[in-house]
Amino acid sequence: MSTRSPATAAPSNDPPEQTRTGMSKAALKQAYIDNLFYIQGRFRDVASTYDLYMAAAFTARDRMLERWVESAQVYKTSHARTLCYLSAEYLLGPQLTQNLVNLGIAKVARAAAEELSVDFNAILEEEVEPGLGSGGLGRLAACYLDSLATQRIPAIGYGIRYEFGIFDQVIQDGWQVERSDNWLRNGNPWELPRPKISFAVRYGGHTEQTRDQEGRSRVRWVPEMVIKGVAYDTPILGYGVRNANLLRLWKSEAPESFDFQTFNVGDYYGAVHAKIEAETISKVLYPNDEPEAGKELRLKQQYFFVSCSMQDMIRLHRNTVGPLETIHQKFVVQLNDTHPALAIAELMRLLVDEQAMTWEQAWSITRQTFCYTNHTLLPEALETWSLALFERLLPRHLEIIYAINQEFLDQVRVRFLGDEARIARMSLIDETHGRRIRMAHLAVVGSRAVNGVAALHSKLIKTTIFKDFHELAPERFHTVTNGVTPRRFMVVSNPRLARLITATCGHDRWIGDLEYLRDLETHADDPVLQARWRQVKIAAKRDLACWLDHHTGVPIDPEAMFDIQAKRLHEYKRQHLKVLHIIRLYQRLKQDPSVSMVPRAFIFGGKAAPGYVMAKLMIKLINAVGEVINRDPQVNGYLRVAFMPNFNVKNGQRLYPAADLSEQISLAGKEASGTGNMKFSMNGALTIGTDDGANIEIREAVGAENFFLFGMTAEEVQRKQAEGYRPWALYQGDAELKSDIDLISSGLFSHGDPHLFRPLTDHLIHADPFMVLADYRAYLECQERVTEAYAQPRRWDRMSILNVARMGRFSSDRAIREYAERIWQIEPVVLDS
Ligand SMILES: *Cc1c(COP(=O)(O)O)cnc(C)c1O
Repeated sequence: MSTRSPATAAPSNDPPEQTRTGMSKAALKQAYIDNLFYIQGRFRDVASTYDLYMAAAFTARDRMLERWVESAQVYKTSHARTLCYLSAEYLLGPQLTQNLVNLGIAKVARAAAEELSVDFNAILEEEVEPGLGSGGLGRLAACYLDSLATQRIPAIGYGIRYEFGIFDQVIQDGWQVERSDNWLRNGNPWELPRPKISFAVRYGGHTEQTRDQEGRSRVRWVPEMVIKGVAYDTPILGYGVRNANLLRLWKSEAPESFDFQTFNVGDYYGAVHAKIEAETISKVLYPNDEPEAGKELRLKQQYFFVSCSMQDMIRLHRNTVGPLETIHQKFVVQLNDTHPALAIAELMRLLVDEQAMTWEQAWSITRQTFCYTNHTLLPEALETWSLALFERLLPRHLEIIYAINQEFLDQVRVRFLGDEARIARMSLIDETHGRRIRMAHLAVVGSRAVNGVAALHSKLIKTTIFKDFHELAPERFHTVTNGVTPRRFMVVSNPRLARLITATCGHDRWIGDLEYLRDLETHADDPVLQARWRQVKIAAKRDLACWLDHHTGVPIDPEAMFDIQAKRLHEYKRQHLKVLHIIRLYQRLKQDPSVSMVPRAFIFGGKAAPGYVMAKLMIKLINAVGEVINRDPQVNGYLRVAFMPNFNVKNGQRLYPAADLSEQISLAGKEASGTGNMKFSMNGALTIGTDDGANIEIREAVGAENFFLFGMTAEEVQRKQAEGYRPWALYQGDAELKSDIDLISSGLFSHGDPHLFRPLTDHLIHADPFMVLADYRAYLECQERVTEAYAQPRRWDRMSILNVARMGRFSSDRAIREYAERIWQIEPVVLDS
């Protein structure tokens, strides 16, 4: 494991003239002033806080480049097997502190800034995060980049450099309003443009059969449009190692800034239009839970980044070892969900059409190159593309997919004689919903390994969506439970806790190997540690309360229990179940003001997809309930409700450290893994959760007695649904449930308007696809147990310490080691010096 501790690695007495590499305080101070002057053109006394942030960023970046070049050289000369991680999303979060931590100079950099009278916290607030993802999937990709470098796995992350990332959410009158995220407005200090690394990407047109000089039949694709993808590179540093990997994001451009031929014949505006069309492709991120929006552009985006990445991979292979026949030995491609699954068809096209390889050899190579991670079982989230659209944009790829499908189905026919229903189910083409291409089937057929993201999820994919594929080739199915990086979600976001852990354990090895957190276990009952533990928590709660007061106007008492649900708004995640709980407590207090109650602050955060009406109504409901409760002096000493606007990585870093209780209450079987659950628990929150996703494994790890489990299991859910689920009967049969829902319908939370929330309440009573009503009673009872435990601080502190102590397994370092060993067969590359 990690051999060097960056906390002690910084040399303290290198000469200050080493302003681009020196790690001493003197060198950092000089570098800071130099960067401010020579890059920003600013003197210290006129610099804005943003200028100061940029100077700090460039100071950090200079120090990363040396390791980056060194890594690239060693990877190249050692012919290291390399991972290509393909993901349409990377939700990186702020970079500065993360990079300083991984460089091992977080403390000294802060001290240097402060000696220059720079308010370091203020410059950190200036940083805008690249919101190139919409939620868990994009954040997972970012955690994996950190762990790949930390585990010394040679890797390139490929994706799209969206000009506008996930929208910024503001709350107006309780409703979500979207604002475009112009994150590149003031420049991005972390990236290096690589104008020389660019590839042509083609769309549309038709194909032609031709023969080459040797008389072999070949296909020529005559496209209708050609654009260019240009590389922008961001270095990704590992922690405690010298390895630095590469995140390469593609920006779309017109092949030439102006098409002069068109210009000369007078179609000047036509030429400009073509340029605009090309640039549109990497313009904006579509949230992955927005099914109907921008269909065609989304397919164009997927092909765009996949084509650039596969061409780049072939170029890199040529530059190093050479013969294309060995490319699968040099590279493994990991598909983060089906968004990049087109890479399978694209690699086939490049090998067969452009490199004149035989189909058989190309397929053998392709099949050995790809691995695919499935992230969801929700049917509406399984990607399909209409054949008509696909044929119009990618005519050659459609032919390739047909050929792959034919060969594949022939195998199935031989294996399962005469089972035509099975053939139809397994085909890459869905003929039942108006002819659509099933991207998940393409991904499975083209990959040598398929994995789910938690034990339950991996089991379910084998019995549901991929049942037939599992019967055909069970050895290809794997499971790797997700993880999160403790650097960002503990060290960067919760420095007080990190210091306390280091002091208690007597070392900081846990940062590079999270299993060392176990050293905390023997101290779980130590009253001194418990008191400090509580101080750390209350300090984080005070910070959050202050931020919330400033941004929402809701004052929160830091002594209250912070009960937090922060994640994308989605019916399956059941924010409305949480709301019903709040309404129940509210009614209880109103009916009997003398009832004793542990004061709770309910804090929500999360964005709704712009077109997801029900999710947006849930945000309005949360704010509406909050408005009534927060204003009611009879209850607001016990209950507070706040909605944190614009939940993103930066704001998440304020939430996770401050939580007492983490809400992970999805309907069992619906949350593939969850990673928010891990971040909360690592920061000492206790979890109330269903038997779903990684909750199951977290509960196993921390101990059932340190976890609040409630609700139906996935099996019970399936059984109930098969029997015929009738929410109406539950509503009629439980007086409290009925009165909670009726209170919403009464108009109390909508200024007397009984219609506003009707779509939500009607849906719950009459359909309730995510079985909120079925779990309501169990949830309330479990919350009683939470209250009881919270009323015993020493017991609670012990549980909290044990939660942290036993979270080692949920480090993304562990996940990456499992991928590397079981799926990729990639060895770490150690850089000495
Ligand atoms: C971790 C994270 C998520 C995922 O949260 P879940 O609770 O697993 O859905 C989503 N968004 C952001 C900004 C995150 O940091």
